[in-house]
Amino acid sequence: MAEQRDNPKLLLIDDSQDIHMLIRQRMRSEGVDVMSAENGVDGLRMAGEILPAIILLDLSMPVMDGFEVLRALKDDPATSHIPVIVVSGRDDAEDKVQGFDLGAIDYVCKPFDMTELRARVRSAMRIAELMQLLSQRAQIDGLTSLWNRAYFDERFEAELSSARRSKSPLALAMCDVDHFKSLNDTHGHPAGDAVLQGFGRLLVDTLRRDDVACRYGGEEFAIILRNTDAEAAATVLDRIRRKLAQIVWPRHPERAVTASFGVAHLGNPPGQEAAAWVEAADKALYQAKTLGRNRVFVSGVGLYNPSAAEAAKAAS
Ligand code: GH3
Ligand code: MG
Ligand code: MG
Repeated sequence: MAEQRDNPKLLLIDDSQDIHMLIRQRMRSEGVDVMSAENGVDGLRMAGEILPAIILLDLSMPVMDGFEVLRALKDDPATSHIPVIVVSGRDDAEDKVQGFDLGAIDYVCKPFDMTELRARVRSAMRIAELMQLLSQRAQIDGLTSLWNRAYFDERFEAELSSARRSKSPLALAMCDVDHFKSLNDTHGHPAGDAVLQGFGRLLVDTLRRDDVACRYGGEEFAIILRNTDAEAAATVLDRIRRKLAQIVWPRHPERAVTASFGVAHLGNPPGQEAAAWVEAADKALYQAKTLGRNRVFVSGVGLYNPSAAEAAKAAS
């Protein structure tokens, strides 16, 4: 069965019942679901809960006025990207300027022409989508299409605090291609680039959708393994290690490529700071390198040995 996609949600924050009726009726043909809040406090709460695709916001409302709502929406990283169109009876330049300065994407005066409002809603959603695409691009590595270092830094912080909150397991792996300099020197930089791209594809194909694969820099990759303990992390990384070693590379079919892996995990927590985790995973990676490369080393545990892991599982 085809995947069912929900309609984008439009949140209307306005204290006038008539406007709610009008917008609900006339937005139906746009393929958006209209959600209603009749004051700023409810609107703000709903915005955080449903994360609508767009918000239409009145200015003059009791309790919390539209400017206050707009300021709060833009201050919260969870809602700051949502485009807000101010829809107000106030049409003096001062209000418009303040609305735009606070981050509104558009300003429409009441009474408005419905066809025009619909066009403005479409346009605002289009712009917001493009902005999201742009900010995503800035977080993607150009060579491998994996997430880049900037994204890793941000995401790992978030995963660390979420694992702490939910008390769920977490592992971080650093991987580094073995003897990569010699590969570049012997077969040329384009061959090295092809290996990095191939390794990136292998990561995406082998990891679960929940895992986050990033190019940390050069021939080094960082993988965030969410909800994963040390043993499960080592198992999946060892699978990647074996698959990589088996790839036949068109530019140098006689030469296999291997990588080494270091794992930090909550079973042997490196501390509260993301930097300490990266350091611990790097240390484990260094161990894997010095113990012969093409290996997985787990911090606080040692070299991953699949047959020993099998035996331990069978014994338990
Ligand atoms: P080890 O097994 O200890 O990891 O040795 P190594 O040769 O892999 O490590 P080293 O750090 O000495 O060399 C890494 C090389 O990676 C040097 C650098 O020129 C190359 N490199 C970094 N980024 C890129 C890239 O984007 N493309 C290519 N082709 N090479 C890169
Ligand atoms: Mg290397
Ligand atoms: Mg390196």
